[in-house]
Amino acid sequence: VSVATCPICGKPTDAKFRPFCSARCADVDLHRWLTGGYSIAGEDEEEGEGRVSPNDPDETV
Ligand SMILES: [Zn+2]
Repeated sequence: VSVATCPICGKPTDAKFRPFCSARCADVDLHRWLTGGYSIAGEDEEEGEGRVSPNDPDETV
């Protein structure tokens, strides 16, 4: 029996969020794809310079 693990955090996969363990990790993976963040290691992806979302509400002060 092989237990699938989340590629983001390594926890056991949840059937509802395969291949991830949670919606959060699924979102993290999606975000990485959208921003090309796979090339970044050890950086806070939320603050990455590679973001190209001028309409992102999180950027507004
Ligand atoms: Zn996870």
